[in-house]
Amino acid sequence: MGKGNTLAGKKTPTRQCIGCGDKKDKKELIRVIKTPEGEITVDFTGKKNGRGAYICNSTECLKSLERSLKTPIPKDIYQELEKEMIKGES
Ligand SMILES: [Zn+2]
Repeated sequence: MGKGNTLAGKKTPTRQCIGCGDKKDKKELIRVIKTPEGEITVDFTGKKNGRGAYICNSTECLKSLERSLKTPIPKDIYQELEKEMIKGES
């Protein structure tokens, strides 16, 4: 019978994009956090503390970020994210 086609054993952490609601591999999403000080940062390591939101490589989903974090996103953060999204596209 061999290996079969089971999903068991495949543990890829998934997160939900706050924009489109798609569940994706954690690595495919960008994490943006609001620190306890109320600062917005892009968390490339996934280890920072704070209230986080995940978005996929889409400028449409980027627009939902502000609503989700209930905080205005600074322009330079948007630029950083857009740069990251362009890099991720192929
Ligand atoms: Zn999305």
